[in-house]
Amino acid sequence: MRYADLHLHTYHSDGTRSPTEVIDLAVKLDLQIIAISDHDNVAAFHEIRDYAAERAVLLIPAAELSANHSGVDVHILAYAFDPDDERLATRLAELRSARARRGETMVDRLRALGYPITLDRVKELCGDGALGRPHVARALVEQKVVSSVSEAFDRFLKPGKPGYVGKESFEVSELLKLVHASGGLTSVAHPTLYPRQQTIVREVLESGVDAIEVYHPDVDSGSRTTYQRIAREMGKFVTGGSDDHGTVKKAETIGSIRVPENLIEPILARVSDRRAG
Ligand code: AMP
Ligand code: FE
Ligand code: FE
Ligand code: ZN
Repeated sequence: MRYADLHLHTYHSDGTRSPTEVIDLAVKLDLQIIAISDHDNVAAFHEIRDYAAERAVLLIPAAELSANHSGVDVHILAYAFDPDDERLATRLAELRSARARRGETMVDRLRALGYPITLDRVKELCGDGALGRPHVARALVEQKVVSSVSEAFDRFLKPGKPGYVGKESFEVSELLKLVHASGGLTSVAHPTLYPRQQTIVREVLESGVDAIEVYHPDVDSGSRTTYQRIAREMGKFVTGGSDDHGTVKKAETIGSIRVPENLIEPILARVSDRRAG
């Protein structure tokens, strides 16, 4: 039996590891199937597909996308799409540009309030990845405005706080059309992290999301059972991943989630179909 971690971030979004570090860790932790699901970015897949293959790690094309559903920012994981699909690539590039502009607005607001962060430093922390609030948070930590990334979110970066700026995102229907047209499947990420969670999760599944991420550090065993039942009732499958971001979050989580390969058969089937075709 092979084991999978289908939710990992690198420095191509708001994680701190490089893609090769992630592969090396996967090998060490005995994970044979992984998906690097950077926010709005598939760069890691293109960068290390050969590196992964040489180490017998099955690397699944993936991304974590934000979708607006009735005003709630729902994260939807996309898997096993054609990594060279041009429409998807164009839309993701647009979203990354919007993220860069939003980063500038966040920095402007915080500087106007007198906090000494700079756009240059935020851009440096982000590199060529998708800019997110964690990069602004890290700049605030460096300047000792706050003592941790989570304090930065609590005081400045959550909705309603002075540094918060909303982000351009997909509508769920647009996201599903794009991912499905490029041969991919979708899963609703970390189902317990939304307001009115069960209603929201059921609604996005009704709109056509294919799976629920029931294995995740923020899903406890009681909720896991609930969402496994919901998936079964609605004819959906389940996925899982550690949502590791390296050292940016309180804990490094890679290795904490191991999903047996038989559960994610629909995703594996798409990957092998593409290889055969
Ligand atoms: P953004 O994509 O810019 O809206 O930022 C969202 C990202 O910030 C998520 O993917 C998480 O990685 C991170 N995040 C969200 N809330 C928190 C929090 N309270 N503490 C630390 N990181 C967080
Ligand atoms: Fe993130
Ligand atoms: Fe997420
Ligand atoms: Zn994530």
